[in-house]
Amino acid sequence: RNDLPTSEVDVLIVGAGPAGLMSNLWLSVFKGLRVRIIDKRTSDVVAGQADGLVGRTQEVFHSFGFEDRILKIAQPMAEFSFWEPNDSGRLHRSSRTPDGVPNVSRFQGSVLHQGHIEKFLKDAARDRGGQEVEHGIQPDLLEIDESKVDEVDSYPITVRLRRLSKEESTPSQFGHAVANGLYRSANFMTAKEEDRAIEKSAEPQDHEVIKCKYLLGCDGAHSWIRRQMGAQMEGDQTDFVWGVLDIIPQTDFPDIRSRCAIQSLNHGSLMVVPRENELVRLYIQLEEFERDAYGRVDRRRISPAQILQAAQKIIAPYTLEYSHCDWFTAYQIGQRVSTSYAKSDRIFILGDACHTHSPKAGQGMNVSLMDAYNLGWKIAHVLRGWAGRSILSTYESERRPVAQELIRFDQKWSALFSGQLKKIERAADGTELEEFKQTFENAKLFVAGITVQYGPSQLVGQILDHKNVHFNPPSVGMGNQDLAKGIPIGMRFASHRVLNQADMRSWHLQDTLPSDGLWRLLVFAGRMTDPTQRPRVLQLAHSLSSPSSILNTYTSGGRSLFEVITVHSGPRIDVELSDFPPPLREKYEYNKIFVDDHSYSEPFGNAYENYGVDAVRGCLVLVRPDQYVSWIGNLEDMAGLEAFCSGFLQK
Ligand code: FAD
Repeated sequence: RNDLPTSEVDVLIVGAGPAGLMSNLWLSVFKGLRVRIIDKRTSDVVAGQADGLVGRTQEVFHSFGFEDRILKIAQPMAEFSFWEPNDSGRLHRSSRTPDGVPNVSRFQGSVLHQGHIEKFLKDAARDRGGQEVEHGIQPDLLEIDESKVDEVDSYPITVRLRRLSKEESTPSQFGHAVANGLYRSANFMTAKEEDRAIEKSAEPQDHEVIKCKYLLGCDGAHSWIRRQMGAQMEGDQTDFVWGVLDIIPQTDFPDIRSRCAIQSLNHGSLMVVPRENELVRLYIQLEEFERDAYGRVDRRRISPAQILQAAQKIIAPYTLEYSHCDWFTAYQIGQRVSTSYAKSDRIFILGDACHTHSPKAGQGMNVSLMDAYNLGWKIAHVLRGWAGRSILSTYESERRPVAQELIRFDQKWSALFSGQLKKIERAADGTELEEFKQTFENAKLFVAGITVQYGPSQLVGQILDHKNVHFNPPSVGMGNQDLAKGIPIGMRFASHRVLNQADMRSWHLQDTLPSDGLWRLLVFAGRMTDPTQRPRVLQLAHSLSSPSSILNTYTSGGRSLFEVITVHSGPRIDVELSDFPPPLREKYEYNKIFVDDHSYSEPFGNAYENYGVDAVRGCLVLVRPDQYVSWIGNLEDMAGLEAFCSGFLQK
């Protein structure tokens, strides 16, 4: 149909769930990119869906400036209780533990429904001049011209879009008065049904053609884009069917406002998640359900009453009713990862489109958001001509292992909840008890989202060991981990408090790494009062000022792609702002120099000690726009730094 209206965009985002909206927000940071974001639904999520926000996700929200909106309404997760039958078979609380690991992130895991989060993502994109979501539209034809994929400025992807009728795009509630999640990602129960409907579909006036440079498939677990890419979901469909109820409960169960895993003697398990607005979410393992023609749980026949009944059996002898049901759903869990995440590094899939697993650890939305946070800045760098297209392959190499790890974790975590590992706890010699505790503690770290470590690539330096660094200068792509043992290369830069040299205010160092698209060179300047150290810092400033330094080589619109942030080890009162020459600090700049020192009244963080940096000699740390640590080196190692950056950045 050559006569269809045709337009061009840099990036087309299909799907406006968490992954699509985060992609849209990230791209909106890089002004001037032409983006469109479409979703086949007419409506936003108003209840239900994901509700767990882990510490790392909140760090990222904070870096975009809207975490305060979350903190105002979310329910923090403070304690986790385990309930199981005692020796006489009666349900009792067998242990309590902190929910999460204190102090690994400045933000505690919290619970808030997905609709709020999607709204905040949209508002943040709008504030930056980003795109509004276009609802009721879906793609029905996708072609990629492989001969053009390597031409940086070409539009090798052609997508035909179809505007849906109101009936097609309005989520069916399957006849229930209560909002539910029985419908979400697919209008159709199977891919075949969807393809058939597309074939029969619509008049030419409902169509338009978009030519794009990049296409992001954020279209959920039943991803149409994934199918067009020819990728498969690998893994297992489990037999577990879970019902979910968001209710205001009426119960005599004592821990209803605490997160709990309840294992019954004969009726499976239940998880309690206290939520905002007096709501409580219950995840209930369903044992009795009807199957559809494809042998899966027939979701049309699930009702809140049926899920409640299953919950009542598990929680007995305590009673459980509700005064209000906000939302419900039921689903069968697949633990699967897509065989590939990209086609020709032009079409990418993100979020549920490339991984699905149980919702019990509250990971789906978080990992989906982080996929988008990983990819968005890379695409923007390529579109802007700042980096070569080769960086795009790091999306799959960095994010697919995370999903695979998530599936392995999900299998273990499910075992924890199904009570198998709890039985080990009672083993006599205590070894298994330790193993259980360790599994649970590791799980908590994983769940917080802060254990992700990207392997060596163009964007993450190889870790070089100490002896080699001393005697041979580091070569391209190396990072000297020994200089900052508490700043693991390839992991997100953890936050500790430092004081602003100018006004003594206490800052989280992560606050100097906002999501604005810039790279940060953190200069740990060490002890400026040490006679051998000051010349090293002055020499560093001199080197960074040179026209050939990375600051002046990689620029856009006259602005460097790097910002320099300096932290010295004090004492604050023996050092002046003027001790730090440009480019460490320009005249009249007051938020560039920080010190690791005690505050009179505010918290401070022993940053050098926590980061494992020598308090006299310091070091350099290069941090990516997504707050991941790329490279670490000595203050003199300009050659190593320049060689590292020239591996992917373009002048
Ligand atoms: P989705 O949220 O599925 O969004 C995909 C979007 O694409 C949808 O808006 C859909 O309408 C649109 N779309 C689909 N196909 C097309 C098409 N062909 N054309 C145009 N648009 C299309 N995760 C957590 O982190 N914590 C939790 O506590 C948690 N609890 C959950 C509880 C339940 C009951 C469920 C169902 C999920 C839960 N999850 C949780 C998972 C979480 O909801 C998903 O992982 C998350 O929404 C994935 O985001 P996404 O953007 O990849 O996909």
